Amino acid sequence: MNPWNKKCSNTDIVLYIMFNGKRLPICHKCWEEISSKDIEWRYT
Ligand SMILES: [Zn+2]
Repeated sequence: MNPWNKKCSNTDIVLYIMFNGKRLPICHKCWEEISSKDIEWRYT
């Protein structure tokens, strides 16, 4: 359901998303997937 929940071995981290008190690293590819969908997210 959440593409960034899969193991991501990419190292081109562009930002981190706060999720359940944890900081999840989001790489460029994952971020494009996330931002291309209409998902409610709090990101910093
Ligand atoms: Zn990724």
